[in-house]
Amino acid sequence: MAMKFSGQVALVTGAAAGIGRATALAFAGEGLKVVLADRDAHGGEETAELIRAAGGEAFFQACDVTCAEQVKALIEAGKARYGRIDYAFNNAGIEIEQGRLGEGNEATFDAIMGVNVKGVWLCMREELNLMLGQGGGVIVNAASVAGVNAAPKMSIYSASKHAVIGLSKSAAIEYAKKNIRVNAVCPAVIDTEMFRRAYQADPKKGEFAAAMHPVGRIGSVEEVAMAVLYLCCDQAAFTTGHALVVDGGATVI
Ligand code: NAD
Repeated sequence: MAMKFSGQVALVTGAAAGIGRATALAFAGEGLKVVLADRDAHGGEETAELIRAAGGEAFFQACDVTCAEQVKALIEAGKARYGRIDYAFNNAGIEIEQGRLGEGNEATFDAIMGVNVKGVWLCMREELNLMLGQGGGVIVNAASVAGVNAAPKMSIYSASKHAVIGLSKSAAIEYAKKNIRVNAVCPAVIDTEMFRRAYQADPKKGEFAAAMHPVGRIGSVEEVAMAVLYLCCDQAAFTTGHALVVDGGATVI
């Protein structure tokens, strides 16, 4: 059975690359209009071009998700252009080399928490108010398996993704009777720039990453995109407050 979407407009943050770009392309492939946001204008415009070249409809707005004014302007621009936002994928996130907790520094803490937690919270705040006004919607937040399990030498990142799941679950309950669903997607290691920066500099780390997953490989951006689309689609109407792992079995061992 094909996924069904009663809504017509999707928003994706962090849409200039990786999982965000793949999800934006997947939404467009389902016939949805897509609002693209990223702090990387070049990559964001490139994603918009890819969607248009495939016959879809999208526009890009530069936005740093850590800035409340820019996030507000983004949601207003989406509403002005397409009238509403039915699905929002809050995907923009960063990972910075951290070492063990005792070796951490404040700048790294503030940077990771700023994008991964405050950025998601700022986007959710604007999206929820828009969705309340339009009578419903669906939000999916990008967490990680590091938000479900421990992530040694990535403790700040892990804490930020645990926080994303906390925001998602709490909002899901707060808005459950308002026809708004909120879920999180929790990928394990996915083949993106973020992965290449973190693992591929050292080939041993790359092999280790594949071996972490019982299926024996890392995941693809399309596999995460499909999980996000499922959480948004009409058939997932009874699913809210869920943190869906997309992890090749990594969290059950
Ligand atoms: P990526 O680095 O390939 O893409 C992230 C995008 O977010 C980039 O285009 C970047 O410009 C944008 N971005 C970063 N900070 C921003 C900000 N302040 N404002 C607006 N845009 C900003 O990363 P990815 O691998 O596609 O990851 C996407 C999401 O999935 C992240 O939240 C990440 O934590 C999560 N995730 C990734 C993996 C993985 O293995 N790649 C695993 C689990 C979770």
